[in-house]
Amino acid sequence: MTRKIINARISPDLYVKIADKAKKKRITVSNLIRNIVEDSLDISDDVLDLVDEKIRRYIHTEENEVIGYQSLTLAKQTSCGFCGKELNKGDHVHVAFSENLAASAVICDTCKHKQEKQTEQHEHASGKE
Ligand SMILES: [Zn+2]
Repeated sequence: MTRKIINARISPDLYVKIADKAKKKRITVSNLIRNIVEDSLDISDDVLDLVDEKIRRYIHTEENEVIGYQSLTLAKQTSCGFCGKELNKGDHVHVAFSENLAASAVICDTCKHKQEKQTEQHEHASGKE
């Protein structure tokens, strides 16, 4: 594996801090920086995933059942509010309006179909009672 090199300008103060820390840990400055960057990327990814999960679960709760859809042509890049898929400018997407309007979301075609199926199953299930 070829390694890439990153150059970053830092203040002399910061350099002293980093060099000091590396010395204490008995590792090279470059190892220390690599560890810090790797750790911080791992953590922020995990945190972002958690936040996304929470938002999606919130939108999917019963109280926020979708009451309607509206087609929309995207004027800018965004991501699906349910699955997180990247949506590009010009894509035909849907706005899912929830009873709680604050939880309305831009969603992709796939998620709209999934959501519609779920609602149908819901209606069938309650009809049998
Ligand atoms: Zn989606």
